[in-house]
Amino acid sequence: MAKTTIEWTDVTWNPTTGCDRISAGCDHCYALTLAKRLKAMGAFKYQNDGDPRTSGPGFGITTHPQTLLEPSTWKSPRTVFVNSMSDLFHAKVPISFVRDVFDVIADTPQHTYQVLTKRSLRMSKLAEKFDWPDNLWMGVSVEDSRVLPRIDHLRAVPAKVRFLSCEPLLGPLDFINLESIDWVIGGGESGPNYRPMDINWIRGLRDDCIKAGVPFFFKQWGGRTPKAFGRDLDGRAWDEMPLVKMVV
Ligand code: SF4
Repeated sequence: MAKTTIEWTDVTWNPTTGCDRISAGCDHCYALTLAKRLKAMGAFKYQNDGDPRTSGPGFGITTHPQTLLEPSTWKSPRTVFVNSMSDLFHAKVPISFVRDVFDVIADTPQHTYQVLTKRSLRMSKLAEKFDWPDNLWMGVSVEDSRVLPRIDHLRAVPAKVRFLSCEPLLGPLDFINLESIDWVIGGGESGPNYRPMDINWIRGLRDDCIKAGVPFFFKQWGGRTPKAFGRDLDGRAWDEMPLVKMVV
């Protein structure tokens, strides 16, 4: 478990590490850069190198069975972001290990788990192989309109809470269908090579959420060192959470 600066979760838990770039949202993958640094520091979870064309030093897909015991040792209930350094539904993660992760989630109902994937097709194809506990929130990344079909894959899985991470938002999401979606997170890209987010893209997404009655969490505008966390230019905050979170 690691403390995190991600605003909408408490801690991160990485039962797998490593990944490969799959779409435009991966171009400046923070995890890939961090894995390289962790490898150089000798961190044992980051010694497996990935394919240099799509991955990088320390970022080869690796399962960590020893981490499966961690959540049961956390005394107080937590909101847990699963695999900040990987993608649970990557093709190289064995089905049996995905099931192990789902079992840990089911066995620790005091915690709420957020799983986010860009491998939505594999997720939907494997969905029937697992039991989906109520404390598992399933999300897909939607950075531009080319990956809107990921939302259809998400709708096909029996998760109690389905959410979208539209970050970094790289284009307008016209014609987004928010039916059966419980939460949307949006934000711009940060870092030295950030791709600027048009104000109309994020406001359009916010307006679609309002129309559909879907809670919207605005993370930040993006930029080299973004500051305006969760606020529109007029100062209004957009930091809503799924309703289920408020009633449990
Ligand atoms: S799917 Fe996520 S972890 Fe994997 S390369 Fe893309 S941004 Fe990085």
